[in-house]
Amino acid sequence: RITNMKTALLSVSDKTGIVEFAAGLIKRGYRILSTGGTKKALEQAQIKVTAVEDVTGFPEMLDGRVKTLHPVIHGGLLARRDLPEHMAALKAHKIDPIDLVAVNLYPFKKTILTAGVTEPEAIEQIDIGGPSMLRSAAKNFAGVLPVVDPADYNRVLDAISNDTADLAFRRQLALKVFRHTSAYDTLIAQYLGRDDQNEFPDSVTLTYTKKQELRYGENSHQQAAFYQDEIPVPYSIAQAKQLHGKELSFNNIKDADAGLRTIAEFDQPTAVAVKHMNPCGIGLGDNIEESWDRAFAADSTSIFGGIILLNRNVDLATAEKMHKIFLEIIIAPSFDDDAYEILAKKKNLRLLTVDFSKRLDAKELETVSVMGGVLRQEQDTVVESADEFKVVSKRQPTEQELKALEFAQIVAKHVKSNAIVVATDNQTLGIGAGQMNRVGSVEIAINQAEQSSEYGHAVLSSDAFFPMDDSVEYAAKHGIKAIVEPGGSIKDKDSIAMADKMGVTLVFSGRRHFRH
Ligand code: 5GP
Repeated sequence: RITNMKTALLSVSDKTGIVEFAAGLIKRGYRILSTGGTKKALEQAQIKVTAVEDVTGFPEMLDGRVKTLHPVIHGGLLARRDLPEHMAALKAHKIDPIDLVAVNLYPFKKTILTAGVTEPEAIEQIDIGGPSMLRSAAKNFAGVLPVVDPADYNRVLDAISNDTADLAFRRQLALKVFRHTSAYDTLIAQYLGRDDQNEFPDSVTLTYTKKQELRYGENSHQQAAFYQDEIPVPYSIAQAKQLHGKELSFNNIKDADAGLRTIAEFDQPTAVAVKHMNPCGIGLGDNIEESWDRAFAADSTSIFGGIILLNRNVDLATAEKMHKIFLEIIIAPSFDDDAYEILAKKKNLRLLTVDFSKRLDAKELETVSVMGGVLRQEQDTVVESADEFKVVSKRQPTEQELKALEFAQIVAKHVKSNAIVVATDNQTLGIGAGQMNRVGSVEIAINQAEQSSEYGHAVLSSDAFFPMDDSVEYAAKHGIKAIVEPGGSIKDKDSIAMADKMGVTLVFSGRRHFRH
C-alpha cells in the first residue's frame, strides 16, 4: 500500500447519512476519497477528504460524465488481493487498493417521474461512473465492501468494528448491488422503450420493487410478497390507498385487481361485487346507492365475503346498507366522513380508495407466468358495443334487450371462461363461470337468474361461440328471449336454426373474450 490506511471511496447522489458514515469510517482507520459534491458535503461537516481528482491526476470533466472512470480507481477496486501478480501490478502503477465503496446513483427514476421532463434531461440522469464502481466493487467482493444502500451504513460500520465483515457479509452486499444496478438499467430500458413500436422485443427485463410482505400466499402454507411496478400505475391495486382494516391478502389483491378491471368498463354509477376473480353481481344505477342495491340483489348469497368496487363516492345511505353484510373489501374513489365512520366500525373490513380518474392504461401489457416462462399480451380493452352486433335470427331484439345484450357482453369479458352472463340492462342476474363445457355455465347462470324477480327481462351472453345448439335450446326453454355470442362456429347455423325454432333472438358480436 502507498498509504498504510484503508481507503473508502464515497460518491453519493443521495447524501443521507453520508457524514456520519464517513466519520465512522475515519474512526475505524479509513481515509476517505470523494467526488466533487460528496467531498463538499463532507468538508462542510469538517471531515477530511481526498479528492478523486488528486488520486487520478485527472480533473472531473464533461459536466461530471467522467469523474471516476479511471484505471487508478477501477484498478484499486478490481485487483485480486489473493493474487501476487495483481498486487504487484498495482504497485508498479502506483495504485492503492480501495477497500470500501459507497455509491448511490443519479436519481433516474425520480427524474422520469417528474412532470414535463424531456428525454435529454432524463438521459443526463443516467449514471455511468456510479454503477461502474459499484459493479467493480461487487465483482471483487472478496476484497472490497460494496455499499449501495444508505440503510446499510450502520450495519457496515458495526461489521467493521466487530470484525464480522466476512465473505458471506460482503457477498450479500454484492448481491444487493447487482440487484440494484440491474433494476436501474432495466428502468432506463423501460423508459427508452416507452413508445417502442415493437411491443415484444427479443428479450424483456422487468423490474418491480417490494411493496409488502404478505402473511401468506394463496394458502397459509405458501409464503408470498407483493411487488409493484417501479413506475406507479395510478389506477391499480398497487397504488390503492388503504384507509382502514386488515392488511390485504394475496387473494384479496388478485380479486381486487379483477374488480378494478371490470368496473373500469363503466362510466355511469356502478357497483361490482367480486368473488374468486369473477364478478358475482354488477349493478348500474342513477346513483351509487341504486347501483349497490342492484349488485346486491344480483346474487345476495355469493356477495357474502365479497370484494366491492364502487365508481362513485360512498355516501351514508349506501354505507349503511353495506355495513349490514359481511364484506372483505370496499374500494371506491372516496367515502363521505359519516359513511366511512359506519363502515370503519368493522375492524377487519378493508376500505380503500383508488384514483378512478386514471382508469386503465391500455398500453400496459399483461404478464402471466407459466412454468419456464411468462406470457405477455395486450390487455383486452376492446369496448363491446351493440352498434357492432349482427342479428342473425328472425326475431329482432327490442331496444331494451339490445342494451341488456351489450351490458351482458361487457360483463362476460371479465368472467372466467366458459363464461355465461344472464342480465337485464342494468343488473346481472346469474353468472356461470369457469365450467369446462359451455352448456354447464348456461345452466348455472340461468338457475341463479331464475330466482330473480327481474328474470322476465333477462338476456344471455356468452364469451365465446356455442359449439352446438344445446345452449340456445336450454336458454330458450327457460324463457330467455335474446342471446348474444361471438359466432364463428362451424355449427353456427344449428344455433341460428334453434333460435328461430324457439322464436328467440340470436345476435353475433363477432368478437370472442376468453378469460382463462
Ligand atoms: P458528487 O455529488 O459527489 O459530485 O457525485 C456523486 C454521483 O456521481 C454519484 O451518484 C455517483 O454515482 C456519480 N458518479 C461517480 N463517478 C461518476 C462518473 O465517472 N461518471 C458519472 N456519470 N457519474 C459518476
